Amino acid sequence: MAPRSVKVAVIGAGVSGLIAAKELQEQGHTVVIFEKNNRVGGTWVYDPKTDSDPLSIEPTREIIHSSLYQSLRTNLPRQVMGFLDYPFGKRESGDPRSFPGHEEVVRFLEDFAGEFGIYGLTRFETEVVKVERKGKGKGKEWEVESRLTRGSESVSREVFEAVVVCSGHFVEPKLGVVPGIENWRRFQMHSHNYRVPHSFKDQVVILIGLGPSSFDISRDIAHVAKELHVATKPNPLLKDINFQTVANISFHSLIEYVHEDGLVTFEDGFSTYADAIIHCTGYKYHIPFLETNGIVTIEDNRVGPLYKHVFPPSLAPCLSFIGLTYRETIFNVIELQAKWVARVLSGKILLPTEEEMTESVKKLYQFIEENALPKRHTHSLRPFQADYKQWLVAEIGLPPLEDWRDDMWMECFKNFSEMKEMYRDEWDDNYWDSIIQSGSSFEEEKISNV
Ligand SMILES: Cc1cc2nc3c(=O)[nH]c(=O)nc-3n(C[C@H](O)[C@H](O)[C@H](O)COP(=O)(O)OP(=O)(O)OC[C@H]3O[C@@H](n4cnc5c(N)ncnc54)[C@H](O)[C@@H]3O)c2cc1C
Repeated sequence: MAPRSVKVAVIGAGVSGLIAAKELQEQGHTVVIFEKNNRVGGTWVYDPKTDSDPLSIEPTREIIHSSLYQSLRTNLPRQVMGFLDYPFGKRESGDPRSFPGHEEVVRFLEDFAGEFGIYGLTRFETEVVKVERKGKGKGKEWEVESRLTRGSESVSREVFEAVVVCSGHFVEPKLGVVPGIENWRRFQMHSHNYRVPHSFKDQVVILIGLGPSSFDISRDIAHVAKELHVATKPNPLLKDINFQTVANISFHSLIEYVHEDGLVTFEDGFSTYADAIIHCTGYKYHIPFLETNGIVTIEDNRVGPLYKHVFPPSLAPCLSFIGLTYRETIFNVIELQAKWVARVLSGKILLPTEEEMTESVKKLYQFIEENALPKRHTHSLRPFQADYKQWLVAEIGLPPLEDWRDDMWMECFKNFSEMKEMYRDEWDDNYWDSIIQSGSSFEEEKISNV
């Protein structure tokens, strides 16, 4: 059968949208990318502006897409932040570090877009406001409604044979339950709106949560603040932490109560008057433009049902999602998902039947339930990341991925979990280069060095 070529709308020109567009184009599809920003890069485009509501709960607030702070450096080395077909190498006069700053990543993505002719496919400053299936049954067309973000208020409608959603999921903040927070009269914000530390100079700051953003932001702020207190779930590692550069950070259990006069009490008995609270409590999936008559839903942070986190069984292959998964070498997984979607749409790869895909989704949900994993982490690939990637490469017909990619990710995750503050600068490039060149895995190398 001759490969099929379809007209595809890609929503978003971040990492997912860029690689999706390249792969779709290479498979002969006609691609239109809708991007509400005026440049490519998505999350990696640093914006000094923030949401008009610092907590990001006001529904009519002005929303800024990127959650990057000015000091952000990648939390993975550049070898796992490039594409299989287009590595993230060091540039002359660029940021030479193995864990570069965000400007270097966005430049890499811009180079990628230039190299693969993505600019010509992209409608910038064009926000998709609605995506809806026309008619019933499989293979029906999708209407994409969009509007320019500047100037004209008018809405345009265009019909596509397929839609690939690449709109990101680090924009809509999630807030935890903090007893008494409704009484808090002082400053509070979500980390989505954190950019620079200056406004916290000499203040007592409470930071809730201990994920990758909290890890960075706590040190950023502690350099200027009087004291910084991190409220987090019990973590046996914390008692041994010896911060290498900042001494005014302390760790506590969760907040017991927040009082109107600024007093914050913690479950471990500690209390302090504070000037500000920063919620580093993560994000929620949010796809406001998608209208599927309840076929695809978001419940407790699970987007579903999705076969392998990409295709809704009853709407496949014409609707797909790229980049929903996390806790992994994100760029690699996104690239493999994009290659898979492009080939499925061209008919080169056949999906299982709708019933088989639905059964596969059920099995994943059952596994999550039986192992008491939180539903909200359905799209976390840990601990299956290697299996998931190898399944995708096998499906696409590529040779298995090298083990060092997962080894690097694990090593970064371990460093991060142990709060090794300087792990980026202490990273042993020579050692990792030798692992990559020899093709051996990290564990084998460790054993042979004993
Ligand atoms: C603070 C932070 C640090 C991170 N650090 C790392 C790291 O070190 N290493 C790593 O690998 N990953 C990191 N990540 C993960 C990062 O999200 C991914 O690397 C990657 O950028 C995800 O790309 P994406 O294209 O899926 O989404 P995004 O980058 O969010 O891109 C989505 C795009 O869709 C556009 N869009 C959204 N809605 C619409 C609409 N309705 N109409 C038109 N356009 C729309 C947006 O404007 C945006 O350009 C980090 C994330 C955050 C938030």
